[in-house]
Amino acid sequence: MAIRSIAEAELEGKKVLARFDFNVPLGDRDASGTRAIKDSTRIDLSLKTIQYILDQKPSKLILMSHLGRPKGKPNPDYSLEPVAKYLAEKLGLEVYLSESPTDSGLKTLTTLGHIKVVLLENLRFDPREEQGDHEFAQALASLADVYVNDAFGAAHRKHASVYTITEYFNRQRYAGFLILDEIEALDKILHKPQKPFVGILGGAKVSDKIQTIEKLLITVDHLIIGGAMAYPFLKAQGKKIGKSLCAESDVTLAAKILKADKGHKLVLPMDHVVAENPDAPAETTSGSQIDGDKAGFDIGPQSIENIRSLVSTAKTLVWNGPMGLFEKSQFSKGTFSVAQMLAESDAYSFVGGGDSVAAVKQSGYADKISHVSSGGGASLEYIEKGTLPGIQALKYHF
Ligand code: AMP
Repeated sequence: MAIRSIAEAELEGKKVLARFDFNVPLGDRDASGTRAIKDSTRIDLSLKTIQYILDQKPSKLILMSHLGRPKGKPNPDYSLEPVAKYLAEKLGLEVYLSESPTDSGLKTLTTLGHIKVVLLENLRFDPREEQGDHEFAQALASLADVYVNDAFGAAHRKHASVYTITEYFNRQRYAGFLILDEIEALDKILHKPQKPFVGILGGAKVSDKIQTIEKLLITVDHLIIGGAMAYPFLKAQGKKIGKSLCAESDVTLAAKILKADKGHKLVLPMDHVVAENPDAPAETTSGSQIDGDKAGFDIGPQSIENIRSLVSTAKTLVWNGPMGLFEKSQFSKGTFSVAQMLAESDAYSFVGGGDSVAAVKQSGYADKISHVSSGGGASLEYIEKGTLPGIQALKYHF
């Protein structure tokens, strides 16, 4: 089974329907009533594929994406209008935004000669998108001859526009350049990673990342756990964790992982930055225990040095999830130190997950990381399963 790259497609004179992840954070409305785009990275990452398609001279390019969680109903707050404006500026072309993802005028629109690029309004304005509905997928598919998926950030969903729709493009479904790039980076980690291989996982909940932990433990030499995710492990080891964030069900999961064969590969914090609450004065513990009235909000200096020594010998590094409540500056040192360590390392480094990506960007190190993934949930699921539904669906069964 193989995936075909967009570079193999014959696109001249064809109607091309392409799925991207334009799910960008939006700010307030400007004078013209359009909401500002706070971070255009996701759109910028799509431009290579969009420009390539346009260069092949298709008769139409129909773009589609979701934005936010409008819960299956039209909602002007989640309109793709700011994205249409941004794309029009970047491409130097008119980008026509449809009224709804499948409105009745679309068929006519796709036959009009002077309109080259159409952006379908937010796919999630229709509940059938998230339901993976066949009729909805067929209605979208009826607009074009060729389908392209470049929405890596949505490829772990069995939604109509990334999964169901491929059934209607028997020999004409292709992967865009971003998805191909992500697959190449992830396969580097999954298949024969250069050793030593060090994984770093943080964030808030063990249950969300349990399968990633189990999968990574098979191949890594060390799996460093930081952030609130560390407390269930410490508690399972019988350590005092004070008022730190910790669900009882996560302690059970953590105990199971610690007892498993590869449990010895886990590296837990040796000290913490603690406070009574996130706004109270912070202090550093002298060991791994936390007193009853305090909660851990970041890893401490000894832990940072321990991570530094492991990272310095690594040839492959994977990081997902912050080391603490990094949104508050007094608890951000662990996360930003890890970002810097990865940037300074000569190892192949892969960073995924919204918070970790934000941290490497904020610290100005993003261009020193070998691969900054455009999909947090998608990259974790790829690590767990070795593929994603939206990627499988692109494959041809020869
Ligand atoms: P996740 O979505 O599971 O990756 O969790 C990310 C969130 O976890 C971020 O908003 C962090 O601020 C938060 N977080 C990480 N460590 C801690 C901690 N020690 N205490 C409270 N929140 C934390």
